[in-house]
Amino acid sequence: MEDRQFGRIRFLCGENGGKYPFNHSLYIQGDNLRVVVDPACSHAKLTRLKEEGVDQVWLSHWHEDHIHYMNEFEGCTVWISKRDFPPLTDLNIFMDWYGLLAPDQRAYWKKIMLEMFDFRPRQTACFIEDDQLIDLGGLRVQTIATPGHTPGHLSFYFPGEDLLFLGDYDLTAFGPWYGDVASSIEDTIRSIHRLKNIPASRWIVAHNTGLYEENPGPLWDQYESVIYERESKLLAALEKPKTLEEICACWIIYGKPRQPKEFFEFNEKVMIGKHLEYALGQGRIVCENGRYRRT
Ligand SMILES: [Zn+2]
Repeated sequence: MEDRQFGRIRFLCGENGGKYPFNHSLYIQGDNLRVVVDPACSHAKLTRLKEEGVDQVWLSHWHEDHIHYMNEFEGCTVWISKRDFPPLTDLNIFMDWYGLLAPDQRAYWKKIMLEMFDFRPRQTACFIEDDQLIDLGGLRVQTIATPGHTPGHLSFYFPGEDLLFLGDYDLTAFGPWYGDVASSIEDTIRSIHRLKNIPASRWIVAHNTGLYEENPGPLWDQYESVIYERESKLLAALEKPKTLEEICACWIIYGKPRQPKEFFEFNEKVMIGKHLEYALGQGRIVCENGRYRRT
């Protein structure tokens, strides 16, 4: 995979195929402003980019694998949805938004965020409005509110190049992520539908494959259907009542136990929690004496 230039938009492919903790970034050059979107592709690449000139940093959302190198762009204003800004103001809020409660987990994440992701609390940012048409001079960008993954997740459509940046609706085989405190399965489904219906001819996702120059076609449905597969596995497991711990031991999200154990156990639990919340809301399951069962 290599970097590609589409008019005034550059696809900056991430290290290690854009797999976490890297992503694929964008560099967009308007006559008036030059912007880097989600600066986490590669430290070396982004350092070189500074020499070309960067005026603003835009973030599709608040996750660490999208903000990784933003501190390299000193003096640039950071733009993000107002809804996703609180975690960037304070490391404790950041961890709260991930639902990290146990002191040992918080200590582990604090260390990672400070040492690996160079987390520095920010007091100010500029806010990108939902569904706003921004003119950068010779280049227009349509912002698209795509909540679900995070409440303020934004995607970007460039009408001039017919290019759609999907952010973390990344069409991977793993399926959508909605494991934060403020993530929502319902909103994720709505956002996938919204993105799928935008008539683009190039699509960029923040991880893995990165660039699609033909419509991802069946990948849209496969990606969405992962949600329903997880749900049907959950309902099958709840034929007999189970506690949250017993459900997590079924490894519905990851398929099997994975290492590091603490990390994957936590993620399994938060994603299952979202499915339980969703199924309870739909009246498909009930919770009695700490055990969930199908209705
Ligand atoms: Zn994310």
